[in-house]
Amino acid sequence: MKWDDIRRSEYTGANRCWPCTSVNLGLVGLVALWLYRRDRRVGALAAAAIGVAAVAVRGYVVPYTPQFAPRLVETLPLPGDPFGKGPERDIPESASLTGTDLDGTAVLQELAAAGAIEADGDLIRPTAAVDREWRGQMDRLAAEPLAALARDAAETVPTMDELDTHVDENGEWLVVDGGLVARPVVVAELAAYLALAGTVEDQQVRLAGARAFRMFLDSCPDCGTELVESSAVSCCGGYTDPQTKPEDVLVCPSCEQRLFTIPT
Ligand SMILES: [Zn+2]
Repeated sequence: MKWDDIRRSEYTGANRCWPCTSVNLGLVGLVALWLYRRDRRVGALAAAAIGVAAVAVRGYVVPYTPQFAPRLVETLPLPGDPFGKGPERDIPESASLTGTDLDGTAVLQELAAAGAIEADGDLIRPTAAVDREWRGQMDRLAAEPLAALARDAAETVPTMDELDTHVDENGEWLVVDGGLVARPVVVAELAAYLALAGTVEDQQVRLAGARAFRMFLDSCPDCGTELVESSAVSCCGGYTDPQTKPEDVLVCPSCEQRLFTIPT
């Protein structure tokens, strides 16, 4: 058996789930204490050492921990939010303002041909004028209340008419074709659609481009918080198939919204 078979990187390192880890360390401690009380000190020491080591390299030792630990921890009367349910929590992907079935590579080629994006070494980025316009529009839209944002979107994007709004404990949303589009996504896409007006003629490319522009975000278009790169599915999210890699995503830790899913 190789070390890589023993170590489970999907549950350790940056992917470590702290509710699972602490519940497991607690259970390891209880087993050790139980053995110790029964005067089996060597056994107690061994159980503690092996248990802690296993939690360190495998994330957890108790089977099915991801299924029960987060809920268990949630019910504990702990002060504050010791496990920081920020970006580690699984944040579902928001819907988009723009429905399109254009291929991503084709969209980037069209945007480049139109002069909206350019290569910068290994990276691509918006050209300076488009970038300036995009960021200016985002600042303007971020200041609008939700109803005004909905009106703005409906008036700007020809594929849309009147848009419903929705507010819940997870934030503010526009209802587009039955899907919920998170406010930061609305701000980013609507601003990009406006910024592409001068350069991209084709309506479909402009819509798809507005969506693709979210990959260029480094801070939240709505609240300004720096975005963090995170794994879409942490241990508690049910990532069980070792053949599929979890998606990498850009999330705003303040709004708890996913701004972009990085293609793998
Ligand atoms: Zn935000």
